[in-house]
Amino acid sequence: MGSESGKECILRGIPAAHGIAIGRVHLITYNEPEVLPRKLAPAEVPEELARFNAAVEQTKGAIERSRERALDIAGIAVGKIFDAHLLILGDTVFQDQVRGRIAREQFDAEYIIYDSFAQMIELISRSAGEVFRERAADLRDVRARLLRHLRGEGDLIPDHPTHEVVLVAEDLSPTQALNLDRKLVHGIATDIGGLTSHTAILARSLDIPTVVGIGDISARVHNGDAIILNGNSGKVIVHPQKATLAEYESKRERFRGFQRMLEDIRTQPAMTTDGREILLWGNIELPREAELVMSHGGTGVGLFRSEFLFLTRETTPTEDEQFGIYDKAAELMAPYPVVIRTFDLGGDKYHAGINIRDEKNPFLGYRALRVSLSRRDLFRSQLRAILRASARENVMVMFPFVSGLEELREAKVVLEEAKQELQHRKLAFDPDIRVGIMVEIPSAAVFADRLAEECDFLSIGTNDLIQYTVAADRANEQVAGYYRSFHPAVLRMIEMTVKAGEKRNVHVGLCGELGGTPAAVPLLVGLGMTELSMTSSMIPEIKKIIRSLSYEECKRMTRKAMKMGTSHEIQQYMQGELKKRFADLPIWF
Ligand code: PEP
Ligand code: MG
Repeated sequence: MGSESGKECILRGIPAAHGIAIGRVHLITYNEPEVLPRKLAPAEVPEELARFNAAVEQTKGAIERSRERALDIAGIAVGKIFDAHLLILGDTVFQDQVRGRIAREQFDAEYIIYDSFAQMIELISRSAGEVFRERAADLRDVRARLLRHLRGEGDLIPDHPTHEVVLVAEDLSPTQALNLDRKLVHGIATDIGGLTSHTAILARSLDIPTVVGIGDISARVHNGDAIILNGNSGKVIVHPQKATLAEYESKRERFRGFQRMLEDIRTQPAMTTDGREILLWGNIELPREAELVMSHGGTGVGLFRSEFLFLTRETTPTEDEQFGIYDKAAELMAPYPVVIRTFDLGGDKYHAGINIRDEKNPFLGYRALRVSLSRRDLFRSQLRAILRASARENVMVMFPFVSGLEELREAKVVLEEAKQELQHRKLAFDPDIRVGIMVEIPSAAVFADRLAEECDFLSIGTNDLIQYTVAADRANEQVAGYYRSFHPAVLRMIEMTVKAGEKRNVHVGLCGELGGTPAAVPLLVGLGMTELSMTSSMIPEIKKIIRSLSYEECKRMTRKAMKMGTSHEIQQYMQGELKKRFADLPIWF
């Protein structure tokens, strides 16, 4: 394949899923083509209403199946998209409106559905902002599914390719992205989207090289155009010349070699060349993700974000339901440890069962342990469930958002109460369950030596620790430039916490994103960290880095980095060091 038509053209976007794809463009449409009205005879109306009702039921079933699949392959974040779709579809006001219009206007259901959704999409599209754009995308997706079921086309995606291709689209709807056939789809290039868009998350889960946010690629290419897509760098080349093609074929080979190497590394220990072992654990939100941790070579769960039990449902989970879930995770991971963090609700995570008033500063407000301590009923029932799972002897409990000894002591009192209740009920639990805290508020890092005297382990939550140290909201794009993960003050906080743990002989882990950030890993090892918990897909790469360095080298780099004045300098230096050592490896830079 060469550039038989057009001039070689390079486009750039955000690299969203690793890998290199070489192939032919297959364009898929995102917007439903306009549906024109068809007038009904009055006698046809009842049948049309029945047809609409049946399509709603079928679509509901299809969305529920998608939800399950999304939860399975990509976790809660994508599963929730389909929860939103079920809410849109199940909106009885909307359904009644459609039925009313069919009866009144006597047009076919396809047209009324198309038009009713179009009005909502139009309304939303006038509002600026990512949330509204996503909401419009959800509406389009539900509409497309409903129309397909109405037409008896089932849930198939009409323009899904039948041969091997690189997909190009404005964006993929969640349904399109979920139903991709990775044997046929070798790469994905989209006009819009970012690293955390559903397309990006699903592409990573499905392991399809992807570049998003390219701008207008879908308007610039045609079906069948030759295309190269580099999901490591974000480069997309249309109509590549012969030499470019040869260069990328060799790059693709190297990348495949890299992936094989990661595969081989799974079963080996994460040990530096001079014999210091670093525990690599995984972060999970659902019990079944424990299997992913194991298959990526992780040897424990360092953070089970239990609040997700709340976020996927309207009602509050009972003690027995929670026990079933925690016990499942413990069983799947045994004999490796599972650290269950008690609910971290509040901030940006809400639930109908917890009354959180509007707050000016929710991230400085009623969040996590603060909610648990004021809702003792919920807290005790969660602790009882965790304790019952601890009968397997590989469960630990961790309190989030501890700012000082007061909350830690209070939380431990509630834990004791929960133990007594279980004793009363003659239920088994581990009486010596290990109790830890997250160090994610600067006061906890500064005061870690005293906190460590009253608990069994510390786990540094860098996602929050960074935002509270540099006062930059972790989710606010506008201040993303201030959210500096390599800020010297953040590194000092980590250092203080590790030293506090060493002094008190208390285990210190780290479970924020920084632990899975390649350039940060030598630094964290050099600071004395012996456990890093991360998104499981990062475990093999981080293991490769650890196995290629000595502890002494890491300490040397860390000493140098700790003398630098800015986050930028430190990050550049660490990336440079990785580049020197892994020049032949195709990612991380
Ligand atoms: C953290 O704050 O670093 C952390 C791991 O917890 P979460 O991301 O759930 O707030
Ligand atoms: Mg946190």
